Amino acid sequence: MATIPTGLQARILAVRTRIAAACAAAGRPADAVQLLAVSKAFPADTVRAAAAAGLRDFGENYVQEAQGKIDATRDLALAWHFIGPIQSNKTRPIAEQFDWVHTVDREKVARRLSEQRPAGRAPLNACIEVNISGEASKNGVAPVEVEVLARLMAGLPRLRLRGLMTIPEPTGDMALRRRRFAQLRELLAMLAGKGIALDTLSMGMSADLEAAVAEGATIVRVGTAIFGERTKT
Ligand SMILES: *Cc1c(COP(=O)(O)O)cnc(C)c1O
Repeated sequence: MATIPTGLQARILAVRTRIAAACAAAGRPADAVQLLAVSKAFPADTVRAAAAAGLRDFGENYVQEAQGKIDATRDLALAWHFIGPIQSNKTRPIAEQFDWVHTVDREKVARRLSEQRPAGRAPLNACIEVNISGEASKNGVAPVEVEVLARLMAGLPRLRLRGLMTIPEPTGDMALRRRRFAQLRELLAMLAGKGIALDTLSMGMSADLEAAVAEGATIVRVGTAIFGERTKT
């Protein structure tokens, strides 16, 4: 068993407490929100320690960086989530190594991930990344394009479309932040109304998880509040 640094243990407990309080405030059950630990920029030993402290789901932005950690922690049966931008010529390792992908934003990537998912593994859990703030520089599909991509992905045999993901524009305005999360929730409801029933809203990070939980997040992606500041990203 890896030793768990007391600082890490305390930070995980603090994040769990924040999630539980946000769930209680929203009248949601405490287990309605899954904690995804974003381990980018931290080594496999840190993942091991976090796993010893009870975390099972880890998020990574870079395939190459993730690969070493996935290999080094095979014995722990962790769940790995890809949360970074996807180049269409780099889909294979994502399809082969990960349990989830949160950042599908175009048909070509979706088709390749499905084609490349190994037969021996369960279908790859997938979310569509939505550019909810309409920033020109941002990855993700526009809200008006979500339904078309969702229909396509729902028909791909080796993907399991689970829901929507977003990273809103940077702002200190928590009311605006919360409105963005509400918009993602409304998009999920729109899909349900059109017969595409999904169960996942991947939204909220270290600084804004309370706003996300208030608006229905089912997965919060938390890095800094668990592992501390990153020296590189
Ligand atoms: C880095 C990252 C996070 C975690 O951000 P923190 O502010 O460190 O909690 C969450 N989601 C995505 C997509 C990221 O790239």
